Amino acid sequence: MKIAILGAGVSGLALGRTLMELGLERTKVSLFEAAGEVGGLCRSKTVSGFTYDTTGGHILFSKDQDAMQWMQACAGGPAAFERRDRHTKIRFGDRFVHYPFENGLGDLPPQAHFECLKGYVEAWTQRQRTNDPAPNSFGAWVRWRFGAGIAQHFMDPYNAKVWKRSGDFLASDWVAGRVPDAPIDDVLRSSVGMRTEGYVHQAVFYYPRRGGFQAITDGIASTLLDRVRLSTPVEALERRGSQWLVNGEAFDRVVSTLPLTDLPAIVAGMPGDVARAMRELEFNGITCLLVALKRDVHPNLSWVYLPHDDQGPTNRVTYMSNYAQSLAPAGSTSLLCEVTHPGHAPEQGGQLERDVLAGLERAGLIEPGEVLFTDRTCTRHAYVVFDHGYKARRHAALHWLESVGIDPLGRFGRFEYDNSDQCVIKARALARRLLA
Ligand SMILES: Cc1cc2nc3c(=O)[nH]c(=O)nc-3n(C[C@H](O)[C@H](O)[C@H](O)COP(=O)(O)OP(=O)(O)OC[C@H]3O[C@@H](n4cnc5c(N)ncnc54)[C@H](O)[C@@H]3O)c2cc1C
Repeated sequence: MKIAILGAGVSGLALGRTLMELGLERTKVSLFEAAGEVGGLCRSKTVSGFTYDTTGGHILFSKDQDAMQWMQACAGGPAAFERRDRHTKIRFGDRFVHYPFENGLGDLPPQAHFECLKGYVEAWTQRQRTNDPAPNSFGAWVRWRFGAGIAQHFMDPYNAKVWKRSGDFLASDWVAGRVPDAPIDDVLRSSVGMRTEGYVHQAVFYYPRRGGFQAITDGIASTLLDRVRLSTPVEALERRGSQWLVNGEAFDRVVSTLPLTDLPAIVAGMPGDVARAMRELEFNGITCLLVALKRDVHPNLSWVYLPHDDQGPTNRVTYMSNYAQSLAPAGSTSLLCEVTHPGHAPEQGGQLERDVLAGLERAGLIEPGEVLFTDRTCTRHAYVVFDHGYKARRHAALHWLESVGIDPLGRFGRFEYDNSDQCVIKARALARRLLA
């Protein structure tokens, strides 16, 4: 069986490596990758001694220990990783609020604290009293779950920055298990100053000592580099009998990790309604800005959310050089700022950089004169956007692909909000199915 894997991000690489681990002859596997290197969204970049993750600060954590251990083993074993406690905050005026926000109400100024706590208790009481089902729209869901105060002070402005769409445009079903769900006792305790933790499965994370997050995908790729065709975009995918032609070459199976939105232009013979469903899937791109600083040491932070407009266009700042010493030269540190956008990336010319830096200064995260340089990377597909049509469009897309013998895999290959560990879990499961 000759298998073509389209895309050499973590999903394609994990699939290729696992197929070989399970005994498939290596010459039967070919990976097609448009970029000049492997890694996809897990890539990192080094500029003048500073290394940053090009699609926002990445950390390794998983509820699945096997997947995490496999990823670590591929990249040199546990000794090749830093182990870090998560220190995440939300910047609120001149204060740092504990994360998740509802576990940090006691850190807020008194008026905001009162409004958030009152709203949280009212929403909780309302849910107990009426047993209403969760609303379908994300905006209404936020009020139903967190109350009006947290919606106003954090959730609304933060989500507007990330999604660039109204709360009514977004559906609510994707949030289950993603947006931290704190018990009311924890919220009350934290409100009166007793520290409580939320989102604990991520409280400890791992990061490669060298090479940025890309060290993981480089490690996975290390045993199959001869099977990856770099700088080889898939431009045509055509059915020929029981086989598929990939750029004219015949394969028995095709696994695609390419964004679903791109497939109508590549796959021959796709029905019009399926092509429309794929094209209309919503997503956001991201521009990541490395900010290199002449500064010895950062505060002990992992990343900080910036929900408010006066903090600039950045929604999240990662304290990149706190992840591993090798990420910045001695005597310097680095921040990584994330700015999302639907469609085209912000224009070059420096305006974005000026806006980001001015926002960081107003937020009190940097000081004038300490910036050495900035570097930006834009990525077209970063976040799946869960609007009300998402489920039906995605179902139409996946159903058709599977019916014609193309296996969709990966974050944008299946349009799922998956982290790299989930990509690995699904890729390894698919490898077992393909060989079964
Ligand atoms: C802001 C942000 C933060 C994140 N943080 C974390 C985190 O902390 N921890 C974590 O584990 N995960 C994180 N993730 C998720 C993680 O990056 C993804 O789940 C993972 O990298 C997806 O891998 P993939 O292989 O499925 O897709 P991709 O990485 O997108 O791989 C697809 C590959 O296909 C290639 N390609 C595209 N078109 C073509 C074509 N026509 N022909 C050939 N090749 C093509 C691309 O170049 C790419 O290499 C984050 C993601 C984002 C956006």
